[in-house]
Amino acid sequence: MQNATEQPNTIRSYYEGLANGVFRAIACKSCGRYTFPPTGCCEHCGSWNVEPAELSGEATLLFATHNITPACHPRFEKIAPYVYGHLQLKEGPIVQAIVVGVKATPQDLRELFERGPVPAKAETLQMDDLPVLAFRVTG
Ligand SMILES: [Zn+2]
Repeated sequence: MQNATEQPNTIRSYYEGLANGVFRAIACKSCGRYTFPPTGCCEHCGSWNVEPAELSGEATLLFATHNITPACHPRFEKIAPYVYGHLQLKEGPIVQAIVVGVKATPQDLRELFERGPVPAKAETLQMDDLPVLAFRVTG
């Protein structure tokens, strides 16, 4: 187990990667699974025996909807209304993120729903104060 004072700054590393289109996670040496976004220990088995990993950015969009309420944070007001969804990463974790390239209209969301799970690729939205994870439907 790592000494807490010797741990790399996981959050800083995550955002520095995201700003450059690199999607950082941790890989567990005990169970082999990935934790994303990265933390200090494995979210699956609780092991601290983990190492940094980069994800492919490939995912499957499982579900999408849009926000009809005010944006959850002022940084998102510029892009509201927007679509967000649940995506299963190729490496396993399921994340919630903004989905770009889909209009936040009932028609577009219905068309997406009727297509079923669709492939998507991670990308970075550079907001005023920090980079934000997003996915674009690719198929
Ligand atoms: Zn594990």
